[in-house]
Amino acid sequence: MLERRKTRQIQVGWVKIGGDAPVVVQSMTSTKTHQVEETLQQIRRLYEAGCELVRVAVPHREDVEALPDIVKNSPIPVIADIHFAPSYAFLSMDKGVHGIRINPGNIGKEEIVRDIVQEAKVKGVAIRIGVNSGSLEKDLLEKYGYPCAEALFESAVRWSEKFEKWGFYNFKVSIKGSDVLENIRANEMFAKYTDVPLHIGITEAGMGLQGIVKSSVGIGILLYKGIGDTVRVSLTDDPVVEVETAYYILSSLGIRRRGPEIVSCPTCGRIEVDLPKVVSQVKEKLKDVKTPLKIAIMGCVVNAIGEAREADLGLACGRGFAWLFKKGKPIRMVKEEEMAQALLEEIYKENGHE
Ligand code: SF4
Repeated sequence: MLERRKTRQIQVGWVKIGGDAPVVVQSMTSTKTHQVEETLQQIRRLYEAGCELVRVAVPHREDVEALPDIVKNSPIPVIADIHFAPSYAFLSMDKGVHGIRINPGNIGKEEIVRDIVQEAKVKGVAIRIGVNSGSLEKDLLEKYGYPCAEALFESAVRWSEKFEKWGFYNFKVSIKGSDVLENIRANEMFAKYTDVPLHIGITEAGMGLQGIVKSSVGIGILLYKGIGDTVRVSLTDDPVVEVETAYYILSSLGIRRRGPEIVSCPTCGRIEVDLPKVVSQVKEKLKDVKTPLKIAIMGCVVNAIGEAREADLGLACGRGFAWLFKKGKPIRMVKEEEMAQALLEEIYKENGHE
């Protein structure tokens, strides 16, 4: 197990972040917030995928007006994302959101930020201080010349110390730059300096494979160093993919598991089965299983016994059939077309229907 940095605990609605709480997975809706049904549908899909906190954009007054319905019907706490319009921060808190995210750098005057903080204190709302390379304060940009790690760190320290001076502690910080190395450096500096919980992610990571790899490298390195109390993978994609990617990152590091983890071989000239097809059939068949399990699906017996020994269940494929392994022991042979079903039956035998 990796050792996590010791942080103070905060609470967004009923979800705890930091301290001994697990690393929380969050995402952001991509719908127009004022389209309440579409937004709630997306939130429910995110929830089903394992999302534990959801952020919604609040760029217009009609989005503010939609918040009570969304908060009331969301299965997870709702965070309002505020930029440039501090009045929407106050209004969103009036409408019952559990958290707000602000980038003090784009709110303008310090007195306004202080008033938002005072209101959050009164209403029991959590705040995320967002420090982004795109919205750094002018004086820091002048001092450092560009949004380097030192500038991001200084901004994060500046605002978290002000929040504490104003007697407010229910906040977390995110320091996000799209440059992976600067991002890691800035987060490391902040993590060494304070026990404020950190929300981590690589902003604007991009689309498809590029975004997934960039996020996995940046987030993975920070998590490996014990940094990160909550995580969002930012992708130009369906936000459900963000949540799935977050869990893949967390389970790769043994931090959190959700549902089956499938270990499968890369295939080679020995193979006598359509392995990608078998793996996708198994994935599809097990998509509603939430029990954390390790399943090894190997193209032939070469590595199967060793891998299967480490897994809860395993398939070692041959021509048109497979040996089904349980806790390292072969229990029976199954035909190719029955492999996915056979695994599911074994899971149900152990855990019952979910
Ligand atoms: Fe090749 Fe068998 Fe190894 Fe798969 S398990 S890569 S088929 S040797």
